[in-house]
Amino acid sequence: MSEILVVGSIGYDTIATNHGKVESIMGGSTNYFAVSASLFCKVNVVGVVGNDYQVSDLNFLKNRNNIDLSGLKKNEHEKTFRWSGCYEKSMNEAITLETQLNALAHFNPELPSPYRHVPYVFLANIDPELQLQVLHQVNRPRVVGADTMNYWIDSRLDQLKELLKKIDLLMINEGELQKLTLDWNAISAVKTASKMGPKAIVVKRGEYGFLLYMDEQYFILPAFPVYKVVDPTGAGDTFAGGVFGYLANANQDLTLENLKWACVYGCLMASFTVQDFGLNKLRQITLDEVERRRIDYLKLIHLNQPLTLT
Ligand code: AMP
Repeated sequence: MSEILVVGSIGYDTIATNHGKVESIMGGSTNYFAVSASLFCKVNVVGVVGNDYQVSDLNFLKNRNNIDLSGLKKNEHEKTFRWSGCYEKSMNEAITLETQLNALAHFNPELPSPYRHVPYVFLANIDPELQLQVLHQVNRPRVVGADTMNYWIDSRLDQLKELLKKIDLLMINEGELQKLTLDWNAISAVKTASKMGPKAIVVKRGEYGFLLYMDEQYFILPAFPVYKVVDPTGAGDTFAGGVFGYLANANQDLTLENLKWACVYGCLMASFTVQDFGLNKLRQITLDEVERRRIDYLKLIHLNQPLTLT
């Protein structure tokens, strides 16, 4: 079993959906990614929180099995990153109402030395400048993946394009892919995105599942059907946690076949997150529940192949 390094945001979210509103709950791309991937293998976290980050929230990550926080810093002079968003007609895309970078705007990531040799690196949603800084400190990782969002496509396009040249796997949602490539057809947009650098692209399509593009081949599957989508926030990061967790758990290389199964796990993990606000559902899930949902999912897609998790 291998290990993962993740850098991304850790913060507080205020979210409004058709099912209600929650204020200042634990969120950020790293929180979702780490909770998801830690079901499969060890996750080493690089990030920053501010002086208002609650000890109980820190203890939640500290006490969770398989999460290492030696790369997490506290900035005593700044507040924690905060994001506020809502979902209107579509539960597939968040509308950002406010982003307060706070401690993230002053973050200077410095990796503890054992982190520099971690083979699976995920650069979760954060300033591409910081994603690049982390990437420059790691020693020839086996797989490097990254996520981004509209906020960074608008404000840091040059740095993002620089980053894309250096990663293996881009995980992006459909609206962001359109914005990045200026192409509204996902089938051709992934080709354009792959010419920007990444070997593989995973497009997250909310309730419609995902599209994987690698070696000029396409693979498309639906999401696991959920009766009540309460809050889709973090589904993308949870998906990425499932993908990387699966790959690192079995020491897999980035091949199309491996990535297909990794994305199935990504889909399953994301389907738990959307069933409640924030991390409420995801944090309770066990690997047994994931496996049970996998069996139902395989019935849904008529894909049947044995899989051994180490
Ligand atoms: P997702 O729904 O998977 O795309 O991710 C949602 C998470 O991303 C929320 O918990 C937010 O705190 C976080 N987030 C929103 N905007 C940003 C941003 N500009 N940089 C980093 N993280 C963000």
